[in-house]
Amino acid sequence: MRNQAFIALGSNLGNREENLLASVERLNRSEGIDVIRASSIYETDPVGYENQDQFLNMVIEISTVHHPLDLLDITQQIELDLGRERDIVNGPRTVDLDILLFEQEELDVNELQIPHPRMWDRAFVLIPLAEIAPKIISGKSGLPLNTIINESFIDKEGVKWWKQWNGEGIYEPIES
Ligand code: ADP
Ligand code: MG
Repeated sequence: MRNQAFIALGSNLGNREENLLASVERLNRSEGIDVIRASSIYETDPVGYENQDQFLNMVIEISTVHHPLDLLDITQQIELDLGRERDIVNGPRTVDLDILLFEQEELDVNELQIPHPRMWDRAFVLIPLAEIAPKIISGKSGLPLNTIINESFIDKEGVKWWKQWNGEGIYEPIES
């Protein structure tokens, strides 16, 4: 059975765009994972630990046969392969892959919470997510994402559109 999931990607070390691209490619090449759509890339101010460079962020939709915990293993292996070091909480990272949503599932085990507990507060997650899934309902406010974005229920300051994704061959763009 295939399930729909959304993954947030972020990078603020090294060649940030290449890190995002390499992560998306690896996910798509992983057995049992297909990348369905990808948002544009945004350049964003760091949140939490602010003494660091700006991030590039994007969100992708995947379809997968894996259980969420196995998906977490795969995303963490990609983080390691791309050279992520975990020194500072919320600190600089080559690439950070967070599982945002997995179908309608709610999961809370030690190493995995789904929906991602901080996603509804983070403009750098919601703005790219709204681009590819505008009708998703926020678990926090009960409002659809496009309403949250368009009616300024979140602070969009610090999240700047940076580049259209050109992941040709990686995913089939959906005609709107
Ligand atoms: P953050 O993404 O919050 O900046 P990390 O990427 O270092 O921090 O993640 C810390 C831990 O968060 C990971 O080891 C992972 O087990 C846990 N975690 C909990 N829920 C999720 C999720 N939905 N997606 C990814 N990691 C998660
Ligand atoms: Mg993470």
